Amino acid sequence: KEHTLVLIKPDAYERGLTGEILRRIEVKGYRLKGLKVKKASRELLTAHYVEHKDQPFFPALLDYMSSGPLVAVVVEGDRVIEGFRTMMGQTNPTLAAPGTIRGDLGRDWKTPAVQNVVHGSDSPTSADREIALWFPELVFK
Ligand code: ATP
Ligand code: MG
Repeated sequence: KEHTLVLIKPDAYERGLTGEILRRIEVKGYRLKGLKVKKASRELLTAHYVEHKDQPFFPALLDYMSSGPLVAVVVEGDRVIEGFRTMMGQTNPTLAAPGTIRGDLGRDWKTPAVQNVVHGSDSPTSADREIALWFPELVFK
Protein backbone atom coordinates (compact mmCIF):
# COMPACT_ATOMS: atom_id res chain seq x y z
CA LYS A 1 0.00 0.00 0.00
CA GLU A 2 1.16 3.51 -0.82
CA HIS A 3 1.52 6.26 1.81
CA THR A 4 1.70 10.04 1.65
CA LEU A 5 2.35 12.81 4.15
CA VAL A 6 -0.42 15.39 4.47
CA LEU A 7 0.02 18.57 6.49
CA ILE A 8 -3.04 20.59 7.49
CA LYS A 9 -1.20 23.90 7.60
CA PRO A 10 -1.48 26.43 10.50
CA ASP A 11 -4.00 28.65 8.65
CA ALA A 12 -6.35 25.70 8.17
CA TYR A 13 -5.93 24.43 11.73
CA GLU A 14 -6.61 27.94 13.08
CA ARG A 15 -9.72 28.26 10.90
CA GLY A 16 -11.14 24.96 12.15
CA LEU A 17 -10.87 23.18 8.79
CA THR A 18 -9.17 20.02 10.12
CA GLY A 19 -12.39 17.98 10.26
CA GLU A 20 -13.47 19.03 6.76
CA ILE A 21 -10.09 18.06 5.27
CA LEU A 22 -9.94 14.70 7.11
CA ARG A 23 -13.54 14.02 6.00
CA ARG A 24 -12.59 14.51 2.36
CA ILE A 25 -9.65 12.13 2.76
CA GLU A 26 -11.81 9.45 4.38
CA VAL A 27 -14.79 9.67 2.01
CA LYS A 28 -12.34 9.33 -0.88
CA GLY A 29 -11.51 5.91 0.57
CA TYR A 30 -8.07 6.65 1.98
CA ARG A 31 -7.13 5.61 5.50
CA LEU A 32 -5.53 7.61 8.30
CA LYS A 33 -2.48 5.72 9.60
CA GLY A 34 -0.85 8.42 11.74
CA LEU A 35 -2.14 11.74 13.09
CA LYS A 36 -0.68 14.43 15.34
CA VAL A 37 -1.17 18.08 16.23
CA LYS A 38 2.22 19.72 16.46
CA LYS A 39 3.90 23.09 16.51
CA ALA A 40 6.69 22.46 14.03
CA SER A 41 10.19 23.72 14.79
CA ARG A 42 12.11 25.74 12.23
CA GLU A 43 14.63 22.89 12.13
CA LEU A 44 11.97 20.37 11.12
CA LEU A 45 10.46 22.76 8.58
CA THR A 46 13.87 23.52 7.08
CA ALA A 47 14.42 19.79 6.57
CA HIS A 48 10.91 19.33 5.20
CA TYR A 49 11.21 22.17 2.68
CA VAL A 50 14.94 21.74 1.94
CA GLU A 51 14.29 21.81 -1.83
CA HIS A 52 13.07 25.43 -1.44
CA LYS A 53 15.86 26.67 0.84
CA ASP A 54 17.31 29.06 -1.76
CA GLN A 55 13.94 30.48 -2.85
CA PRO A 56 13.19 34.11 -1.96
CA PHE A 57 9.96 33.03 -0.25
CA PHE A 58 11.71 30.50 2.04
CA PRO A 59 11.91 32.71 5.19
CA ALA A 60 8.25 33.67 4.83
CA LEU A 61 7.34 30.02 4.26
CA LEU A 62 9.03 29.08 7.54
CA ASP A 63 7.29 31.96 9.37
CA TYR A 64 3.93 30.79 7.99
CA MET A 65 4.45 27.10 8.76
CA SER A 66 5.70 27.81 12.30
CA SER A 67 3.02 30.42 13.08
CA GLY A 68 0.91 27.95 15.05
CA PRO A 69 0.02 24.29 15.44
CA LEU A 70 -0.50 22.17 12.36
CA VAL A 71 -1.82 18.65 11.86
CA ALA A 72 0.48 16.02 10.34
CA VAL A 73 -1.19 12.94 8.85
CA VAL A 74 0.07 9.74 7.23
CA VAL A 75 -2.52 8.67 4.68
CA GLU A 76 -2.68 5.25 3.01
CA GLY A 77 -4.34 4.25 -0.22
CA ASP A 78 -4.00 3.10 -3.81
CA ARG A 79 -2.08 5.79 -5.73
CA VAL A 80 -2.71 8.12 -2.78
CA ILE A 81 0.30 10.37 -3.54
CA GLU A 82 -1.06 11.39 -6.93
CA GLY A 83 -4.65 11.19 -5.74
CA PHE A 84 -4.14 13.59 -2.87
CA ARG A 85 -2.22 16.02 -5.10
CA THR A 86 -5.31 16.04 -7.32
CA MET A 87 -7.55 16.64 -4.30
CA MET A 88 -5.34 19.59 -3.15
CA GLY A 89 -5.44 21.54 -6.42
CA GLN A 90 -2.74 23.92 -7.56
CA THR A 91 -0.43 25.83 -5.22
CA ASN A 92 -2.13 29.20 -5.75
CA PRO A 93 -5.60 29.02 -4.15
CA THR A 94 -6.97 31.63 -6.56
CA LEU A 95 -6.14 29.36 -9.50
CA ALA A 96 -7.01 26.05 -7.82
CA ALA A 97 -10.12 24.50 -9.33
CA PRO A 98 -13.41 24.54 -7.42
CA GLY A 99 -13.92 21.11 -5.87
CA THR A 100 -10.30 20.92 -4.74
CA ILE A 101 -9.30 21.58 -1.13
CA ARG A 102 -7.34 24.71 -2.03
CA GLY A 103 -9.99 25.81 -4.55
CA ASP A 104 -12.81 25.46 -2.05
CA LEU A 105 -11.07 26.47 1.20
CA GLY A 106 -7.97 28.48 0.23
CA ARG A 107 -7.81 32.24 0.27
CA ASP A 108 -6.30 34.63 -2.23
CA TRP A 109 -2.62 34.34 -3.08
CA LYS A 110 -0.73 36.67 -0.74
CA THR A 111 2.99 37.19 -0.88
CA PRO A 112 5.32 36.66 0.79
CA ALA A 113 3.54 33.86 2.64
CA VAL A 114 1.26 31.83 0.41
CA GLN A 115 -1.31 30.32 2.74
CA ASN A 116 -2.76 27.36 0.94
CA VAL A 117 -4.33 25.11 3.57
CA VAL A 118 -2.58 21.78 2.91
CA HIS A 119 0.62 20.02 1.90
CA GLY A 120 0.83 16.66 0.18
CA SER A 121 4.01 14.75 -0.77
CA ASP A 122 4.79 15.08 -4.48
CA SER A 123 6.47 11.70 -5.19
CA PRO A 124 7.18 8.33 -3.55
CA THR A 125 10.72 9.51 -2.74
CA SER A 126 9.37 12.67 -1.08
CA ALA A 127 6.69 10.70 0.77
CA ASP A 128 9.22 8.27 2.28
CA ARG A 129 11.54 11.11 3.29
CA GLU A 130 8.75 13.26 4.77
CA ILE A 131 7.06 10.42 6.69
CA ALA A 132 10.44 9.55 8.25
CA LEU A 133 10.86 13.21 9.28
CA TRP A 134 7.40 13.75 10.79
CA PHE A 135 6.72 10.22 12.08
CA PRO A 136 10.08 8.67 13.02
CA GLU A 137 8.16 6.35 15.37
CA LEU A 138 6.07 4.80 12.57
CA VAL A 139 7.53 1.88 10.65
CA PHE A 140 5.68 0.79 7.54
CA LYS A 141 8.10 -0.64 5.05
P1 ATP B 1 3.39 21.86 -0.71
O1 ATP B 1 4.85 21.48 -0.96
O2 ATP B 1 3.23 22.71 0.54
O3 ATP B 1 2.48 20.69 -0.78
P2 ATP B 1 3.19 22.67 -3.45
O4 ATP B 1 3.91 21.39 -3.73
O5 ATP B 1 1.90 22.97 -4.15
O6 ATP B 1 2.92 22.82 -1.90
P3 ATP B 1 5.72 23.99 -3.64
O7 ATP B 1 6.20 24.56 -4.92
O8 ATP B 1 6.33 22.72 -3.13
O9 ATP B 1 4.14 23.89 -3.71
O10 ATP B 1 5.91 25.15 -2.54
C1 ATP B 1 5.84 24.84 -1.18
C2 ATP B 1 5.02 25.90 -0.48
O11 ATP B 1 5.75 27.14 -0.53
C3 ATP B 1 3.68 26.21 -1.14
O12 ATP B 1 2.66 25.36 -0.75
C4 ATP B 1 3.43 27.61 -0.66
O13 ATP B 1 2.95 27.63 0.69
C5 ATP B 1 4.82 28.23 -0.70
N1 ATP B 1 5.16 28.85 -2.00
C6 ATP B 1 5.40 28.23 -3.18
N2 ATP B 1 5.67 29.10 -4.16
C7 ATP B 1 5.63 30.33 -3.58
C8 ATP B 1 5.85 31.67 -4.04
N3 ATP B 1 6.16 31.93 -5.32
N4 ATP B 1 5.69 32.69 -3.17
C9 ATP B 1 5.39 32.44 -1.88
N5 ATP B 1 5.18 31.21 -1.37
C10 ATP B 1 5.29 30.16 -2.20
MG1 MG C 1 5.72 20.81 -2.71
